[in-house]
Amino acid sequence: MSHSSFETKVVHNKVDQETISNSKSTPIYQTSAFTFKDLSHLESYYEGNSPYLYSRERNPNTDELGDSIARLEGAEAGAATSSGMSAILAGILAIAGSGDHIVAAEDLYGGTHHLISKELETFGIEVSMVSFSNLQEVEDSIKPHTKLLYTESITNPFLRVEDLQGLVKLANKYQLSTMVDNTFATPYLLNPCEAGVDLVVHSATKYIGGHSDVTAGVLAGKEEIIKRAVKKVSAFGANLSPFEAWLAQRGAKTLALRMKQQSQNAECLAKSFRSNPHVKHVYYPEFVSENGHGAIVTIELKKSVDIERFFQCLGWVKIAPTLAGVETTVSYPLTTSHRSLTDEQRAKVGINKYVVRLSIGIEDADDIIEQFREAIEESLGE
Ligand SMILES: *Cc1c(COP(=O)(O)O)cnc(C)c1O
Repeated sequence: MSHSSFETKVVHNKVDQETISNSKSTPIYQTSAFTFKDLSHLESYYEGNSPYLYSRERNPNTDELGDSIARLEGAEAGAATSSGMSAILAGILAIAGSGDHIVAAEDLYGGTHHLISKELETFGIEVSMVSFSNLQEVEDSIKPHTKLLYTESITNPFLRVEDLQGLVKLANKYQLSTMVDNTFATPYLLNPCEAGVDLVVHSATKYIGGHSDVTAGVLAGKEEIIKRAVKKVSAFGANLSPFEAWLAQRGAKTLALRMKQQSQNAECLAKSFRSNPHVKHVYYPEFVSENGHGAIVTIELKKSVDIERFFQCLGWVKIAPTLAGVETTVSYPLTTSHRSLTDEQRAKVGINKYVVRLSIGIEDADDIIEQFREAIEESLGE
């Protein structure tokens, strides 16, 4: 080869492909595009015989993540996206468009609440947000042009467990699609697709990634819906980068181990809060699955606790506006996830100054219990 000049050599200075084969861990395909040896090879992409062309559309690492979560969910197909929010948007737009109507739960994750209540109208989608704890209320809000019922399998921050069978039954009666955010439950606890849900969405930023080092989203569900969603992801440029996909996929390998420990710890902590005289309410599901009941515990403290001081006395438990990492963290819905809600909306879903959401990690259960007991003791008002 005539690689004479540095300028030519420097750009063709590539590691032989052979050196990456047989690797135990999936290599990171950190490439924006794929090359073709001739025009017929390029043509084979459009004929569906060659999978990769351009990473915004598809990449081996994002495929690996989408496929692996789809298998864990028992879904036909899966796809990875740049974040939980882009997965939610792409999923909704794969089902509903201009002139359609959707019915969504009113107690959704703050970002989703904003997306659905404020942003969907720019796509010409009409929205009703109602309480899904009463399926009659959902049924009453169905209109002739309704296309989708949207909710979370375990809601945030009060951890209401959705009646998925009832929801699917209602959707089938009116031939509607169903979409469920399974972020809090993870496929380790619940598989909504197996209950008949059409599309599941995850913020892989949370338990799937599990280490608070990646922002990513995943969709899993019926193949024809996933295909349409993937087109939206590509059109909006909401694709996940190969490295982020690789990180999320690496994290997902320990999902069962982490969720098992985190759920057990959460259950112990919820029990200890129930006997603490300074805790007004403990929100923790009675039952989610045989594998456990989730790793989020929400508490409402009594007015005897100085809330500012409580957050200062948490020691190694940090305040973080996220959840699901291996470390126990706390968040404050009032000023973070539910900040954009009006006072009236917050009151309706039950958020107030004394509500704290805890994301339980993999530490020793007794250490976690002791840290919170101390924080409450040290923050009692005069
Ligand atoms: C975090 C979260 C989202 C949004 O996901 P991002 O990855 O932050 O975009 C959606 N739903 C739930 C339940 C979440 O916890």
